[in-house]
Amino acid sequence: MALVARTEVEMELDARRIDRAIGVLLGGAAGDALGAGYEFTHPAADIEIDMIGGGPFNWAPGEWTDDTSMALAIAEVAATGVPIGHGPGLDAIAGRFVAWFDSNPPDIGNQTRAVLSARPDGAAAMRHRARSVPGRKGGNGSLMRTAPVALAYLDDARACREAAAAIAGLTHDDERAVEACQLWTHAVRHAVLYGTFDGVRGHLKEAPSGVAEFWGPLLDQAETGSPADFANNGWVVHALQTAWWAITSTDDSGPDHLAAALEAAVRAGGDTDTTAAIAGGLLGARWGAAAVPARWRRRLHGWPGYDAADLARLATAAVERAPAASTGPVVEVVRGDITTLRVDVIVNAANSSLLGGGGVDGAIHRAGGPRILAECRQLRATTLPDGLAAGAAVATTAGELPARWVVHTVGPRYSNAEDRSATLRAAYTRSLAVADGLGARSIAFPLISSGSYGWPREDAIRQAVDAVRGAETAVERIVLVAYDAATAEEIERMLRSA
Ligand SMILES: [Mg+2]
Repeated sequence: MALVARTEVEMELDARRIDRAIGVLLGGAAGDALGAGYEFTHPAADIEIDMIGGGPFNWAPGEWTDDTSMALAIAEVAATGVPIGHGPGLDAIAGRFVAWFDSNPPDIGNQTRAVLSARPDGAAAMRHRARSVPGRKGGNGSLMRTAPVALAYLDDARACREAAAAIAGLTHDDERAVEACQLWTHAVRHAVLYGTFDGVRGHLKEAPSGVAEFWGPLLDQAETGSPADFANNGWVVHALQTAWWAITSTDDSGPDHLAAALEAAVRAGGDTDTTAAIAGGLLGARWGAAAVPARWRRRLHGWPGYDAADLARLATAAVERAPAASTGPVVEVVRGDITTLRVDVIVNAANSSLLGGGGVDGAIHRAGGPRILAECRQLRATTLPDGLAAGAAVATTAGELPARWVVHTVGPRYSNAEDRSATLRAAYTRSLAVADGLGARSIAFPLISSGSYGWPREDAIRQAVDAVRGAETAVERIVLVAYDAATAEEIERMLRSA
């Protein structure tokens, strides 16, 4: 069986990859069931760590907890072959979460309970509920269940990140939780494909620079520090650090690494079942199902009445039924400063003079240095003596920006008297055409015409989404950059309803 690959050449799922895919579910469940008996404790050095059950919720030996149950809710939908990051697949996951909640589980995280107790119908309602409940939202409850997301997207790294974010956001409306899920899911995917832990750092090379700046030092600390440095591991950030510490502080020369690292995660104390479940998903992806000790595999069981054989069945189905990569580009939303993005092309919402201005235009020239303006002046002196028309686009160097090129386009000014929306959409599609001509694979757009040109925000977003969704382009990744949280939410909402 072969999958259609867009980013990996000749990617075939061989038997070892299937084994590692099964390892994702078995490793996570084993960590969960191992840690369940020690939750909220800090085991002394002379205490033996084994799959004994017990703990504050009196688990049976080998019984997994909420971490694995929620992961299986995701895996079950993935196993049907429907894309899980949006649309009916995401709705189905929301439905499985509610079904699990209705089973009256002994243990459930505070944030997850607050969301699921309203029994929201569908992904949009669940996400809305996650946003509206008050209090701290950065618990580890989305990270603990994210590993199976990777199984559905072995053929598409970008869609994998997008799905990880969407599924995290069903219950955890928290930037760090989303980032942690994207990082870990990417790492699990990479480990299933290639059998290494390189995806942990690899994610940061492709993530927006702000993500790398935040998480890079935390990974450093996990690799050099001790659990006391990240002891608040009910928090998603410390939970990820504890899992990474367990993986990197134990002997990784062979498959015994899996059990050793899971024991280390439990000995770190605190939310032991969750930190070990998080570590276990990645360890299983790296070392495969065979690395999970048989005495543990035989005991594993839990909601919804499954055992280790069911986990193997689900993982296999998820990777074999994953759809081929979609034909159009992935469209995603990033909140922040467009000049920092590591994409091939950054689009500048310029004015027709091409000689700089305010807003995004000014920021790009400031951050990119004088070379961009010099090329713009050259264009004015040669091919564009009258400037750039609204709806047209032209490329220059990106100067000192992380991008390779800047594509300058001019959006129309908003008019109550005249419908200029076709010109606004053309600003997007012609920028994409210029990007295609450059051979670009990724592009970031600001929200064109929405600043001093007066276009109402909601319609500016609608035009942007319509334009990029309908465009015929070889660009694989389109980033719509929002300058504030409200705009980001509105773009996301529009993308999901489109
Ligand atoms: Mg748990």
